[in-house]
Amino acid sequence: MSRARVTGRVECAEHPAGCPAWITVISARGKRLAKAAVNQGSYTVEGLPAGTHTLVISASQHTPRAELISVEDTLDDTSGVVQHDIRLSH
Ligand SMILES: [Zn+2]
Repeated sequence: MSRARVTGRVECAEHPAGCPAWITVISARGKRLAKAAVNQGSYTVEGLPAGTHTLVISASQHTPRAELISVEDTLDDTSGVVQHDIRLSH
């Protein structure tokens, strides 16, 4: 089973130059799979197994947000990138 990369943008009205946030990916069983900082409005999380995971966005100035992401089990490495953009509110 190949491992996927999830990448995307984090946008909010308060930080047009890039929201200072953290991304944590948690598996359906509650295991923390990965954590990454948002850098200039973009994030990349590597090494995710296939499945439906919860992506948690935490930032000190925003309400934490959780979104589901779906990583498909790909047999080749060419399609192992999932694009997931996040829009934060207050
Ligand atoms: Zn922000």
